Parts: sequence; structure tokens; C-alpha cells
Amino acid sequence: MRGWNFSAGPAALPEAVLRQAQEELPEWGGARASVMEVSHRGKAFVAMAQQAEADLRELLDVPPSCRVLFLQGGATQHFAQIPMNLCADGQRADYVVTGHWGEKAVKEAVVYAGAHVAASSAASKYTTIPPRETWDIDSGAAYVHYTPNETIHGVEFHSIPDTGDVPLVADMSSDILSRPVDVSRFGLIYAGAQKNIGPSGLVLMIARDELLQRNPRPLPKIFRYAEHAAADSMLNTPNTWGWYLAGLTFRWLKEQGGLGAMERRNREKADALYAAIDGSDGYYRNPVEPSARSRMNVPFTLHDAALDAAFLEESEDAGLLALKGHRAVGGMRASLYNAMPIEGVRALVEFMRDFSRRH
Ligand SMILES: *Cc1c(COP(=O)(O)O)cnc(C)c1O
Repeated sequence: MRGWNFSAGPAALPEAVLRQAQEELPEWGGARASVMEVSHRGKAFVAMAQQAEADLRELLDVPPSCRVLFLQGGATQHFAQIPMNLCADGQRADYVVTGHWGEKAVKEAVVYAGAHVAASSAASKYTTIPPRETWDIDSGAAYVHYTPNETIHGVEFHSIPDTGDVPLVADMSSDILSRPVDVSRFGLIYAGAQKNIGPSGLVLMIARDELLQRNPRPLPKIFRYAEHAAADSMLNTPNTWGWYLAGLTFRWLKEQGGLGAMERRNREKADALYAAIDGSDGYYRNPVEPSARSRMNVPFTLHDAALDAAFLEESEDAGLLALKGHRAVGGMRASLYNAMPIEGVRALVEFMRDFSRRH
């Protein structure tokens, strides 16, 4: 029996998506072969790929000025590839660092860009978001990079920062498709698929074409976004399985009522869990400033860390999977991506109450 999977990533996929993939695994469409075994340049695959892009565009209302790319390398590769493609040598790029992933992104960017930490909440141990007025943004910067949801620290922006004419670049790996977002406010959005889209090994990118055409330095073709865009993400063999599963997830999201419906469900789930933590009289604790709390990743500690092992063992036995927190933060973490239904969160809350009574 499947458990309630709170993994931060690779994370749970909608069960309906897995069942459909299982059903059509040996023979996909009329291909008499699986989707993994057919040419990515064949009619059937291209039609599926185009449908996936069309569904994503509809879900996020992506403006026609933006390209949608299905890439590889994980979000981490794009920490390096974004400055390669968007910055002239040493040109300033501003980074707003609100957690672990933002830190990693700025470290990779120093190789090609004059990467500058425009704001950081490291002093609060990444439990806050630095107010926009305090950011040191240069109007000549190549872009401003931020992480709308920090997966490890459980810190999320609840509005899009205004960076004027400087293009905004967002690592949306752990909150993409969790609610409607005004894509026209961004220069470039990228996301590793394994949190809210599909399997790892696929990266979704939505970017203004004009940014992809900057080409500030000679690069091998395979590293150039403009080449990937010109080839409709088929410069080389794409992650066909990942693209297919992403397409199934997009269709599932449409059937659920789209991103407005997901936002309501995600808020309900997060509210239920934070209420259980805050109402536990200090038995459980979440360190994040309430206005910056993430709806996707909820880290929490127990009042006595000596109980962690028992909590993890008993929760696993109760069918609540992967609650161990990241070592950087300790304690527990419950990830509540789109595929986690409210019933899973209710089961967790119930378990937490029961555990605190017994221990
Ligand atoms: C998981 C995650 C990453 C890393 O993704 P990889 O695909 O492993 O490179 C980067 N940024 C954020 C916000 C993440 O949640």
C-alpha cells in the first residue's frame, strides 16, 4: 500500500498520474512500444510534447513573448548555465539569498558573473525575508536572482518582488505550479521537475525570448539556451520519459481545476499543519517568521531532540513517509506539494497529537 509521502524531493507524484503511466507503459498510444522506446522526432512524441507545452502555457497563462524549454541537468546545472547565458564576463548579477539553494546559486555564478549578494537573511538563520527596501540592486545588473521557496529552510515569498527594469530570475523548483503566478513579471523561471512536476532529470524553463538571445560569450552549443530554444528543446535527445510524465501532471492539474484550485488546497493543507504546530504548547516548533512561512515545505522540531528517532520510527509505521528534516535544520520536515492530498496532512496532524500525548 502507498504511504503518505512527505519527501522533499524526489517527491510524491499524483497517484492518478502513476496509474496512467503504469497502464500505458508497455504500449503507449498507438505506438506499439512504450513512450521511452520511440523517436523523440516521431509524430506521436512531438504531438505529446507540444500538448504538454500547450497545457503548461494554459495553466500558467504564459505570455507569447516567453519560450518554454524542457531541459536537463537539474536546477543545479542552471545555477551555472544562467550566468553563462545572461551575463557578460564579470557583469554584475544580483542575488537575493534566503536559504540553502540561493547560497548554492550565487556560489556557482561567481565563475561567469560579478555575482553580488544584494540581500541575505543568513543572520536570521534563514527564517525571514529581507524587506525589499533593503536590497542593494544595481540598475545595470544582468538580472536579479531569487528563490521564491527555499525547500530546506521552509521560507517562501508570498508576493513577487519589484526589480524595475532589471529582469527577475527565479528558481521555482519547489513551488512552481502550486498557485497562479504572473509570469509576465519574470525574465526567466526555472525548476527541477522532481518536486512539483515529474521525475528528476528534467528541468522546466520559462523565459523571455529576448533574454535567451543575449549570447554574451562563446559557448558550446549544448550550453546555449538560444540553441535549445531554436531546436524546440530537441537539440539532442531530451528526457522523453520526464517530458511525458510532466505532460500527464499538467493534464491532471487542469482536471483538478487549475492553479487557483491548487492554491486553495495548498493553503488549507499548510494552515492545518501550522495550526497543529502552533497549537502544541511548544511541543512542536517552526522557527520561520509567520509571514515568510512556506506552504510547500514545513520544517519543525520536537521540544526534545531525543524524541526524534521515536517520532521517525513511529510515523513510518503509521504510513507517514520521509519526515526526516534536512541536516542543516534538524528535526522534521513535511513537504506538501500538489500531489499530497489534505487527507495525508490530516493523518500527519492526528499522528502528531497522538505522539505528543504518548511521549
Ligand atoms: C531541489 C532544489 C534544487 C536542486 O535541484 P537539482 O535538480 O538536484 O539540481 C535547487 N533549487 C531548489 C529551490 C530546490 O528545491
